[in-house]
Amino acid sequence: MQATAMKVVEFERPQMETGSSCTANAWAKVPATPTADERQALKARIRQLLKEKNAVLVAHYYVDGDLQDLAEETGGCVSDSLEMARFGRSHEAQTLVVAGVRFMGETAKILSPEKRILMPDLDATCSLDLGCSTDEFTAFCDAHPDRTVVVYANTSAAVKARADWMVTSSIGLDIVKHLHEQGKKILWAPDKHLGGYIQKQTGADMLLWQGSCLVHDEFKGVELELLRKEYPKALILVHPESPEAVVAQADVIGSTSQLIAAVQSSDAKEFIVATDNGILHKMRMAAPGKIFIDAPTAGNSATCKSCAHCPWMAMNGLQNLLQVLETGSNEIHIDPAIGKKAVVCIDRMLDFAAQKKANVRATGALENEQKLFAGIGPA
Ligand code: SF4
Repeated sequence: MQATAMKVVEFERPQMETGSSCTANAWAKVPATPTADERQALKARIRQLLKEKNAVLVAHYYVDGDLQDLAEETGGCVSDSLEMARFGRSHEAQTLVVAGVRFMGETAKILSPEKRILMPDLDATCSLDLGCSTDEFTAFCDAHPDRTVVVYANTSAAVKARADWMVTSSIGLDIVKHLHEQGKKILWAPDKHLGGYIQKQTGADMLLWQGSCLVHDEFKGVELELLRKEYPKALILVHPESPEAVVAQADVIGSTSQLIAAVQSSDAKEFIVATDNGILHKMRMAAPGKIFIDAPTAGNSATCKSCAHCPWMAMNGLQNLLQVLETGSNEIHIDPAIGKKAVVCIDRMLDFAAQKKANVRATGALENEQKLFAGIGPA
């Protein structure tokens, strides 16, 4: 069986004025699709090895549906990146296999430095992470020493080590609002769309790094308007990494977990979904019988590279998952000094979330609490 096929992933070169690394011509390796018989054999062997090795599989909503199913049926978890890390930290297994992209494995390692973190492919990265190199980011921070540094989870351990706060897409708004109320000026990185959305909502003074997610950046506002006319009853679900023209048309704006929760709780029967289409696997399970339509990445204002699926998430396959379980290869290592610094900004966010949760409980606003903690997670 052919293990991988290489494809070059081209996307727009970010603006350089505010210091953003060149991410043009990145590449991804996409595993060959196994036959139905091969799939069954691979899944059976993976189940067996997870048990034998006392390992637990944690998978992101954007990876292949087979990996998501395997994680759930073997006692692992399928979630957003923070919940994956939290789950990994609290689970008794000493080996975590993280099916997702590199920063997720790194976050798991930062939170659980004593554990062994393996990934199907260590080259699975993220355009946000790629577009925010440590050197350029450090220079950017050094040039603005008066600003509080807030970074999104989709960054390397070294970038997190330079930050004051790490945030996820569902709690970023609350944290920036809190900092703004304290009179802080913010340096935000790396996602310009999420940063712009939070800036607009909070009125905070935010200096934005100009990175973007190559999947969400491709959703098209004009084509979404046309699609809405075809499905006038559909609810529009949008992840805030999407461009402003798309976010402006949303009925629900939220992280992956929040969008899945919206699908479950809404009376609507049709949904137009503006996030990576890997999430549809979980949405269909959460709300069987409902209709899900990909938000448009094609049309008059599109480019030929549009597809609404992350090429790096697609690097996670059954074959390479089995391989790491058999060989113990692809382990995530982080310089302990960097890990020690990086955990500070993550713990700050976790403490803020816990405090917020306690406050909400104290006021008895359980409905709000459920909304807030339906899922604290990025991407
Ligand atoms: S979907 Fe976007 S934000 Fe998520 S890993 Fe891929 S490139 Fe990064």
